[in-house]
Amino acid sequence: MADEHPPLEHVERGLRATRILAIRRLLTDKGVITVAEVDDIIERARERTPADGAKVVARAWVDDAYKARLLTNARSAVAELGYRLSHDAELAVVENTADVHHLVVCTLCSCYPTSLLGPPPDWYKSFAYRQRAVVEPRAVLREFGLALAGRVRVAVVDSTADVRYLVLPRRPSGTENMAEDALAELVTRDSMIGVAAARLPR
Ligand code: FE
Repeated sequence: MADEHPPLEHVERGLRATRILAIRRLLTDKGVITVAEVDDIIERARERTPADGAKVVARAWVDDAYKARLLTNARSAVAELGYRLSHDAELAVVENTADVHHLVVCTLCSCYPTSLLGPPPDWYKSFAYRQRAVVEPRAVLREFGLALAGRVRVAVVDSTADVRYLVLPRRPSGTENMAEDALAELVTRDSMIGVAAARLPR
């Protein structure tokens, strides 16, 4: 049957895929998890997109009381908008201001708020980003096209299995009269990781 693709194990793949398949095989062979459970988790992560996180940010921009709840108890604040964290790790939302800019990294692996942003981009998982974000965050931000004023302090936050971070980017100026759903359009994935600012309105 010529149009049938080969089994996954026979597809040429890189180091990361080889490693993850080996880990999955060990866990399923030992009965820790089933293949169906793994597929289910991947499917649920794929259903989420950065548009979900953007709605949370836009609400915080228009509602100060909501923002205060989001910054102090993110799990229950996102639940108000119907988002349930699929992971046990806590969610922490960190606010960018005129004085401090937060940058999120997972130095150990790739921890990421998938419940609100979907799967992480490949660069987030790369060794280069994970090492350099900590050592030279300003240089990394410049490469992403973000030049911060010298007086702005850069705070790098390191995600772990216990806590995952979402950046609340600054609300762009000139958006005072914009509605919440239009504001959400300005909130990019990268702005919620902290490697970019929110988009400017057209
Ligand atoms: Fe991680």
